[in-house]
Amino acid sequence: MEVPWQFQFRIIALGDSTVGKSSLLRRYTEDQFTTTSDPTVGVDFYTRTVTMDPERGGPVIKLQLWDTAGQEKFRCITKSYYRNSVGGLLVFDLTSRASFEHIKGWYTEVVEHVIPNKIIFLLIGHKNDRIEERKVSRDEAEKLAHSLGCKYMETSAKTNSNVERAFELLTRSIYESLKMGDIILRSDWDGVKAGYNTRALEPEETETEVKKCQC
Ligand code: GDP
Repeated sequence: MEVPWQFQFRIIALGDSTVGKSSLLRRYTEDQFTTTSDPTVGVDFYTRTVTMDPERGGPVIKLQLWDTAGQEKFRCITKSYYRNSVGGLLVFDLTSRASFEHIKGWYTEVVEHVIPNKIIFLLIGHKNDRIEERKVSRDEAEKLAHSLGCKYMETSAKTNSNVERAFELLTRSIYESLKMGDIILRSDWDGVKAGYNTRALEPEETETEVKKCQC
């Protein structure tokens, strides 16, 4: 049974193929990691429900996490998902210089498609368990994040490093923007939905599920 939520945020994971997008989402929603994974074909989505500031009775937020295929041939499918997203995870592989250099391209492509909507990004340097093979310094990644107006975190799905913190940071940024009025709820936009049920919940109540898109 679905846990009642007050808000739903739709977030899209972006970045080159094999940077670890699916693994990151799977670690966050299912707490699992496998070294072999099928490439994402088109779009998959995962969900997890979180309570913001439970000690202060904060809202229950359902995160709908969309996983896009990095391959060029699927871009036509994924573009239509950009428009209905409020958050974006810009993921690169810390051991791949090329994946870092492509981040600006991902950013620009998404921003062009969401205008006039606002999208809140988080830049992620992934696979930080392979730090000895690092090809991108923290300093230059932080500079890029600054130039894109977002925060930066280094994660590993393999060792479960900073995964919870990264999603918490992005969810909080979106929630704060909503409270400040920087993001406006609209009936013709699926980026943020107000919940169908505002019943108070136990703070520790959470739920995970994975769904496969039929498109
Ligand atoms: P996607 O194409 O961006 O969705 O990438 P995947 O999630 O399919 O991962 C591509 C490869 O990187 C797979 O072999 C994963 O096991 C591996 N991988 C993903 N995350 C990590 C990580 O945090 N550390 C390491 N060492 N490998 C990872």
